[in-house]
Amino acid sequence: MRCMRLGSVFVMLGLALTSRAHAEPVVLEGARLIDGTGKPPRDNAALVVDGERITAVGIAGKLRYPKGARIVDVHGRTIMPGLISAHSHVGLVAGTANRADAYTREAVQDALARYEQYGVTSIVSLGLNRDLVYEVRDDQKHGRVPGASLFTAGRGIGVANGTPPQPVAPDQSYRPTTVEEARAAVREMAGHKVDIVKIWVDDNFGKFTKMSPEMFKAVIDECHKHRLRVASHVFYLADAKALVAAGVDVLAHSVRDLPVDAELVRALKSRGVFYIPTLNVDESFFLLAEQPEVMDDEFFKQAVSPELAQMFHGKEFRDKVQANPSVPKEKAALAVAQLNLKTLHDAGVQVAFGTDSGALPERIPGWGEHHELELMVRAGLSPMDAIVAATQKSAALIKATDRGTLEPGKRADFLVLAADPTADIRNTRQLVSVWHGGREVTPRVHTAQNK
Ligand SMILES: [Zn+2]
Repeated sequence: MRCMRLGSVFVMLGLALTSRAHAEPVVLEGARLIDGTGKPPRDNAALVVDGERITAVGIAGKLRYPKGARIVDVHGRTIMPGLISAHSHVGLVAGTANRADAYTREAVQDALARYEQYGVTSIVSLGLNRDLVYEVRDDQKHGRVPGASLFTAGRGIGVANGTPPQPVAPDQSYRPTTVEEARAAVREMAGHKVDIVKIWVDDNFGKFTKMSPEMFKAVIDECHKHRLRVASHVFYLADAKALVAAGVDVLAHSVRDLPVDAELVRALKSRGVFYIPTLNVDESFFLLAEQPEVMDDEFFKQAVSPELAQMFHGKEFRDKVQANPSVPKEKAALAVAQLNLKTLHDAGVQVAFGTDSGALPERIPGWGEHHELELMVRAGLSPMDAIVAATQKSAALIKATDRGTLEPGKRADFLVLAADPTADIRNTRQLVSVWHGGREVTPRVHTAQNK
């Protein structure tokens, strides 16, 4: 583990170097390999990385290695693809609160760096982005912005006096009042080559105006004319059915009011709609106040700022959660969401992965993704199913054919873990190293490095 020790030395010297590119091909030899396709893990694997790509995958000792390759011994480790959050946000929280002035280039870049240090190698910032997101994405494609690969839904489309309720800058969401304005918003985003379009169809327990079916039908129609997929925020079963009937491509949250029925299952399957459960969303309203012990480990601590940690540990925060009349509803919603995830997964619906991390202070980028995997397993998915959702399926959702699985030709986006997450999903937190586009990144918390 020569390069890892070097990595530690750089950190000890306080240098800002978080990654280094490898000029020569690298072979990671001897690990158990989870390739993201759902196939059983392979032992004693060899993974060949050349530049930013994987060039070969096989069994150690049986695979021909390229000339001059550097061999990295990873016996006893497990390798899996980097996590892909198909539903996250950047630049919405500053300090301890959501703020309309939070969305700056620096905040976006900090968030991308943090995701990557947690093994989340790609994210979709699913709405509420200022237009500067397009510049950041372009700069990243030219190698000028490190951190998790950024895919974006641009501003996204809500309605006046409706969801999303976060305070944002004027160029952070479209609020069309007519169908024609909504179509114009789509055309503007298409001009920016958004990766996907986001809409919000919800009334937040009756508190806000909900987008009309006329409006979302027009948005979906206009998106499909521009070959753009549409992801919708959703809560209610009836809205999910109406959205799927109108051609929506992604349900970006769980159905949380009622158990899903055969009609929705059939529609999701026949239309190939992706379903992102985001179980973390409903739980985030009460988890930290009710189970403060989850904040005790280093993996959590390193994911939040000292001021946020202080707020989460404070009496005021706990009292506010206790007095929030929505909390019992969120608990019921989480239970329904978990049930629905199991039903839909077992029925063969395409389950992808996302957390809504970054949307609120309680939805914690990096930590939230690992926690979401755990929640999916608690809902009844196998660890392997949760991993496939967070890798192959989420890549498919954003049509990113260059990532999501560890196969020849794909990007070298993967995690080296000290323990096998198919044995215990919490082992995704045992990060030894993160590889992103063939660059080795020092994890924010390298739990296992000295084991
Ligand atoms: Zn969201």
